[in-house]
Amino acid sequence: LVSREFRREDTVVDVNGVKIGGAHLAVMAGPCAVESREQLLEAAECVKRGGAGFLRGGAFKPRTSPYDFQGLAEEGLKMLREAGDKFDLRVVTEIVNQNDIDLVSKYADVLQVGARNMQNFQLLKEVGRTNKPVLLKRGLSATISEWLNAAEYIASEGNYNIILCERGIRTYETFTRNTLDLSAVAAVKELSHLPVIVDPSHGTGRWQMVQPMARAAIAAGANGLIIEVHPHPESALSDGDQSLTPENFEATMAEVKKIAAMM
Ligand code: PEP
Ligand code: MN
Repeated sequence: LVSREFRREDTVVDVNGVKIGGAHLAVMAGPCAVESREQLLEAAECVKRGGAGFLRGGAFKPRTSPYDFQGLAEEGLKMLREAGDKFDLRVVTEIVNQNDIDLVSKYADVLQVGARNMQNFQLLKEVGRTNKPVLLKRGLSATISEWLNAAEYIASEGNYNIILCERGIRTYETFTRNTLDLSAVAAVKELSHLPVIVDPSHGTGRWQMVQPMARAAIAAGANGLIIEVHPHPESALSDGDQSLTPENFEATMAEVKKIAAMM
């Protein structure tokens, strides 16, 4: 169902009037984790000012260590909805457990399935039974075929509103957190009709590399970006090293829009 053979034209996912796919440039931005109402509102204002259509933020965080900040759960979801409504931004947030589908769907416009859950087949089937757009991140060590099969799990349950997200894969390199595989964008465009966006934040782990990789992603044909932005990256509870300041986010958006206009 997700293959180019099945459907020749590019799929455009409509998220309550904001489109992802085709010639539309979709940018999702915001903090890694929702930390407080003040933090989120400040981030959302900057996301809007930069011209993005979507506010991202985790309320359930799949952290490597169980002792790290795990997220504000429903309180965080409420803050996301409030900030999204205030600045007219669509809300994207991660769902880590199929039992939370009704809860997360109540507040979010897009359900994010994270890299660590790309092959959580039960979760994939359950989000496939909803009509919410799903942002499906590539697994930490997933091949393109495994990733597209994960999308197929969602589609096979009836939900075709899927957006793929390349977020870097695990390699032998240690300078960057992951190795951002921009060739996956071209591969997915060839193999599938689904929109694909790129996450240069998790893809590199270093804020210095976010702008150049964002530019490259759009030049490579990505339909958009998901970028971590924090009003005070140095005090972020997660992923501060890869988060852009509001100023850097706005500068990045200006660059990205120039490249998108040439595509
Ligand atoms: C995130 O978007 O904050 C996140 C946890 O991403 P990933 O699943 O790609 O690691
Ligand atoms: Mn993060």
